[in-house]
Formats: sequence, structure tokens, C-alpha cells
Amino acid sequence: MYPLGMFTVESKDPDSRARAGVIQTLHGEIETPAFIPVATKATVKALLPESVSGQVGASAVLANTYHLYLQPGTDVLIKAGGLHKFMNWSRPTFTDSGGFQVFSLGAAIGKGISKLKDSSFVEQENIPVSDVVESGDDKEISLAKIDDEGVTFKSVIDGSTHRFTPERSIEIQHAIGADIIFAFDECTSPYASKEYQKEAMDRTHRWAKRCIEFHKARNAEGENGGQVGGSGKQALFGIVQGGRYEDLRKESARIIGAMDFDGFGIGGSFDKKDIGTAVGWVCDELPENKPRHLLGIGSEPIDLILGIENGIDTFDCVAPTRIARNGSAYSSKGRINLMNARFMNDFDPLDRECECYVCKNYSRAYIAHLFRSKEILAATLTSIHNLHLVVQLVRRAREAILEGKFSEYKKQYC
Ligand SMILES: [Zn+2]
Repeated sequence: MYPLGMFTVESKDPDSRARAGVIQTLHGEIETPAFIPVATKATVKALLPESVSGQVGASAVLANTYHLYLQPGTDVLIKAGGLHKFMNWSRPTFTDSGGFQVFSLGAAIGKGISKLKDSSFVEQENIPVSDVVESGDDKEISLAKIDDEGVTFKSVIDGSTHRFTPERSIEIQHAIGADIIFAFDECTSPYASKEYQKEAMDRTHRWAKRCIEFHKARNAEGENGGQVGGSGKQALFGIVQGGRYEDLRKESARIIGAMDFDGFGIGGSFDKKDIGTAVGWVCDELPENKPRHLLGIGSEPIDLILGIENGIDTFDCVAPTRIARNGSAYSSKGRINLMNARFMNDFDPLDRECECYVCKNYSRAYIAHLFRSKEILAATLTSIHNLHLVVQLVRRAREAILEGKFSEYKKQYC
């Protein structure tokens, strides 16, 4: 069984909600705060696992239940001996519940929609708001149909029909075998009305209870197919919803926080500018002695700093690798686009202040050349740099909290 208290708080910042701690799993410890790279289909795109642990320095990865269920399917994962063996990753793993993808992917696929809805982004990319994620009175969201029992959806791969219920999501996550799994939630659009947010939140709470009951019953029966060594070895996190509304967020945090989860995820729709507020409302209501994961958010250093300041322990976000594949690198002076002609003769590293493997060995001119030549090494090098930068930024925040210097550290970014 899990050691009692999988999470230890080591130090708290006296001036904010920031804290440093350690999450224990059967595959090792995660020192928090920590940035968790996304390995959607059991791979951090374009990177060897050895690079993710070594050159990036990540302590865990997060894979996606929806994608692994559709392809290659749970039978293959069970035969492989679980996610860790399948992808040759020996450190801790998370899987999300598939809720976000089930509800949004049909509408959002191929359009670069991020979970963090930033209206300026939608405008920049000329994405019609009607295409973003629709939800409303008819409860039709693109390719998904919701009822109180679960959600029926069409595969983005072949259009076949599938159904997730809270029980099914947990069963699939048991088969995948990640160390930390999430309850199945309804992820609403940030454009949904308050009435709909409330209805979806209440349903998420009923589903959370069903997830815990099913998880515990299977553990008790020894039927948890978890590949991490038998029953009861996976930690289950509940998800707080409630959109952008303070009363709903607090209500959701109180209800989910009172349930017997091992930790918590903060899910779904909020606007970029709400990170500093909504996360704080939720963390004030959640129990102090359990870890808190901010789901799918953290595309810019400032998002991570605000999250940490408001009590987040772990983050995942696809942005560092997604923008890397599109030719954008983080730098201490903001993002740079390597397709820009001025980089063709620029022999500086991607970021002069970065100490990553890529910045030690490669120039902007070389990587710009790789992008222009459509060489796949471009994505690999830029992904290592971008992930290293966010992983280290969060690690330095942890060190600052431990040294009682978080307020000082924060000033570099705010
Ligand atoms: Zn670098």
C-alpha cells in the first residue's frame, strides 16, 4: 500500500500560498513544485526518455488516457506490463482521466486550442469562437454527448463510437498503470453559462464519488489491474471544477476536498488572467496535507510562478514541446521564432542564460537551419531546451521556497 501520507510539505513561504514538498510513489519521489512534461501517447514528442530524465531533468511524465485507450488500446498496455515498461520510463507517471479530450477534442483538434482559453489567442489564430468548444442547453459538444451516467463520443482516429463512464475511466487508468491517476470530470468551455458550469460541476462531484468507490472496490478485490505491482498502488486525485466563478470554485474545492482522494487536480476552463485568483480560491479550501496539480496550464513562465505562489505543487502543459515543434523557443527575454530570417546568422545559443545541453552545444543559426530544412532534429533540440527551461524555472522556485526567498525569486518574473 501507499505509505500513509504520500505527500510531505517541507517548507512554506511565509508571504504566499507557495510550498515545497515531496510526493512519494513506487517509482520514486517527485520534489515539488515540479513541472511534469506531457507524454500524451506514451512519448514526450521527439525525445528519448533518457533525454527527458537527463537533459531535461524531469522527475515524472503525464500520459493521456483518452489517446492510449484509442491507440494502442488497454490490451496492448496490459501485455506490455504497463505504461512504465511500454515506454521505457522508470520514474513516476500520471494519467489524466480523459475528460478534457472526450469533451473538447472533436471541436478543438487541429486548431491548436489550449486548455487555457485566452481570447486574444483565439483572435490571433482566427479561430471562430463557435469552433472552440461548444456546450449549452442541448448538451451536445461537438463529437461528445453527455448524460448523468457518462459520455458517448466518437474517436478522432476513425469516427467509431465509444463511451466513458467514471468507472470505465478508472478501469482504463488501472490498466495503463500510472502512479497517479485522476477522477473522470466534465470539462466545460470557458464560454459556458454559469448555470451550465454549475450543472457540470455537480455532475463532476457525483462522478468523483463513483470514481473513489470503484477505485477502492477494485483495490479491495485485488482487481486493480495496475501494472505497478498489484492492487492499491495507484494514487487517485479528484478534480475541482467550477469555471471562472469564485463561489463555484470554492464550493467544488470544499466538496472534492472533503472526499477521500490522495490529492487533487484543478481542472478546466479559466482565462489566462484568472490563474492568480481562481487557483488561490481553490487552494485555500483544499486540505494542506495533500498534493495539488494544475491540469494542462503553464504555457509561460509567469503562469508557473503565479500557480506556485497560489499553492500549486505540480503542473503539466503541452506548450513547451508544442511550440518547440512549431519553431518557437523560450528565452529569458520572451519567445523567439526560429523561422525569423535574423536567426540564420545568429551564432548565440537559444538563450544566453540557459545551461541546457542544447544551449551548450548548438547555435540559433544551426537550429534555424534545421527548421528551414524541415529536419526533425530541430524539434528534438528545441523541445529539450524549452522543457529544460520550464523544469528548471520551477525547480529554482522550489529551492527559493526552501531558502525562504520565494518573494525575491518571484520578482524576476512579475
Ligand atoms: Zn537551453
